[in-house]
Amino acid sequence: MKTHLRIRLLLAVLTCLSYSLVEAKASRPAEENDEYAANYASQPRFRALLHYEPGAEEAHVQFDKQAINFFRRLTYGDGWTLDVTTSLADYPYERLKDYSVVISLNAMPGGKSQREAFEKYMENGGGWMGFHASAYNDRNTNWPWFNRFLGCGPFYCNNWPPQPALVECNQEHPVTVSLPQSFVAPASEFYQWKPSPNENPDVEVLLSISQKMYPFGLKDVVKWGDFPIVWTNTKYRMLYLNMGHGDEAFIDATQNLLFVNALRWVVSQDPHGDPFQK
Ligand code: ZN
Repeated sequence: MKTHLRIRLLLAVLTCLSYSLVEAKASRPAEENDEYAANYASQPRFRALLHYEPGAEEAHVQFDKQAINFFRRLTYGDGWTLDVTTSLADYPYERLKDYSVVISLNAMPGGKSQREAFEKYMENGGGWMGFHASAYNDRNTNWPWFNRFLGCGPFYCNNWPPQPALVECNQEHPVTVSLPQSFVAPASEFYQWKPSPNENPDVEVLLSISQKMYPFGLKDVVKWGDFPIVWTNTKYRMLYLNMGHGDEAFIDATQNLLFVNALRWVVSQDPHGDPFQK
């Protein structure tokens, strides 16, 4: 065999081998793969801390696991670091301040010291993106700062069982500008709050459940009132999204785009500079 033919044959074998390695790696579920892409980036653009509670109700943990997978996959292209924790006890302010955003999946800071660290983080330019029960609070929560931060009163009622909902977008915000005027959000349990975030002049509501849905629910029925489900309190670098119950949250491309836009917007407002401009 001539030398150049041998080299071409060797190259072909190597190419096949590298394709099969890439394929084998890609087929591993991201959840089981700690060595995800951002770990190889020499200079990750930013760091995000995600927390969830593995002991929460089953439908919340279902969402949490899918959300972890969703956000981890987003690190592949942009080279950012996602740390996942089941407790904020290990994150005093000195550690929290290194993160551009804290993503709370159906979980909130636990005891006094965790709450104080989170307050200090948010009051000093921290970023937050919270889903569903991460904002759940009632008269037993005893955390007045948290309601000022959310920009609304405590939990008031919800629809049950989880259902899809026609939602209307306020398209005058970077998070929603690329979304349609309305779309059907996948099935979820949605919370209503009293007083509503709409009553707070510092709050910008981005998505609401359409009043065409009323009466909304079968066992627990919401019959009236405005029904904001995504908003930001402009006094903080925060965004709350009420989705987060069950295993259907990531089946809709429009809603997935909303989640991506939300993350990018919170992070892009980082007082240390927009990491996406790096
Ligand atoms: Zn729920």
